Amino acid sequence: MKSCCVKRCALWALILLLCRMPVRAVAQEDLLPLDIAILEDPMDLLRLVNRDNLLDKRYPDQSEACYKLERVNLPVTRGKHLLRAVANDALEALFAAAKAEEIELYVGSAYRAYRNQEVIYYNRVKRLGYDDGYSQMAGASEHQTGLAVDVVSGDYKRVFEVEFGETREGVWLRENCARFGFILRYPQDKEDITGIRYEPWHLRYVGEEAAAYIMDNGLTLEEFSAARIRTLGAYYGDAQAMNDDAQLRWQLAAQDAQQGDS
Ligand SMILES: [Zn+2]
Repeated sequence: MKSCCVKRCALWALILLLCRMPVRAVAQEDLLPLDIAILEDPMDLLRLVNRDNLLDKRYPDQSEACYKLERVNLPVTRGKHLLRAVANDALEALFAAAKAEEIELYVGSAYRAYRNQEVIYYNRVKRLGYDDGYSQMAGASEHQTGLAVDVVSGDYKRVFEVEFGETREGVWLRENCARFGFILRYPQDKEDITGIRYEPWHLRYVGEEAAAYIMDNGLTLEEFSAARIRTLGAYYGDAQAMNDDAQLRWQLAAQDAQQGDS
């Protein structure tokens, strides 16, 4: 059987399953108070990437306009960097706001292709003799999304250290990043959830509404994603009860099938 047929069968099986599933009661406090249009994430800004949710080596598809990567024209520690346009614009606004408060920032790293990450991970593990958790295996790095960026101050240009988080620049980043749609992706004391050590320099673009909610509530993207799935499930469940949402259920099933693919 061709793989597209298998996919189509899996999709229909999922749709049938969704139609038969009883509507599960979810407590209101477990749901996100955000617009469904944001949680549906048509721009793929909320994509969860970690060791359990790997990206395909072709991601992000450059034939699709919304994934187009563009050059970052901001001060850098070294090299040239790319970001998805939506994150690049937001980062420019963040740097301008920082500069207005006499805070000087530098881009350390932004988009990283699957193949580059493969080499970085291999070299680090080979050099250390073990995986110290600071470098991600290919497909598991947020940098592949084109929505993640490492930002540091002049003093931390050469070596990224956790002490950066307590500098004036590090504190400013943590307190202001959400205004521009970024979150601190690997917060302190959440290593057990993210599986990644505290990185006060690693920002991830998720959009302003989601960023505000995540930062205000001290969440990780893992926790937010679990709540997002619950909220979408409850929403589609309700819509199902109203029996007028064939199109919405189709979208949810298609999204699930796609996620299982990556
Ligand atoms: Zn990073």
